[in-house]
Amino acid sequence: MAKLLIWIVIILGVMLVARMVTHRNARERSAPPPRPERDAGSGTAHSMVRCEHCQIYLPRAEAFMSQGKTWCSAEHARLGLKK
Ligand SMILES: [Zn+2]
Repeated sequence: MAKLLIWIVIILGVMLVARMVTHRNARERSAPPPRPERDAGSGTAHSMVRCEHCQIYLPRAEAFMSQGKTWCSAEHARLGLKK
């Protein structure tokens, strides 16, 4: 009886794998080509800001805002303006 159960499990496993493979092939054929990711919303995501401490430019989306100024990191915001 145990042997029969093992065979049933094996057959079900093979069927599952076969289904997954055919499903993936069908999806790959019908899938549209991947679109390049675009930033949602306005063009402000690409505007560059400058770190007030080390003067490097970085995207506004990655900038750290503090005291009305932009910084490249929390560390530089803490250090403040370079003396
Ligand atoms: Zn900096």
